[in-house]
Amino acid sequence: MREQWEKDLACLIVCPRCSLRLENSAERILSIYDHEPICMRCKKEEELRSDYTERSKQMIEQWMAESELNYGDIAGYCYHHFNPFKC
Ligand SMILES: [Zn+2]
Repeated sequence: MREQWEKDLACLIVCPRCSLRLENSAERILSIYDHEPICMRCKKEEELRSDYTERSKQMIEQWMAESELNYGDIAGYCYHHFNPFKC
């Protein structure tokens, strides 16, 4: 069964942050700040933020702890914060 975040990510047609229109073949990725699906251009901007590395580390640690309780879904969710998703 597909999770809601997965549907949002796959069906994203306009980036909520910069209003860029996304073709079906374009890559999308989850923000590590607000967990919204965003375009790769916005992701690059996030990566430039000074707290990006610290923030990613915290999120991964949190997921590792949570994944012991609920493995499969959390792993996929985590994965798409760092790896682009395509339709
Ligand atoms: Zn964008």
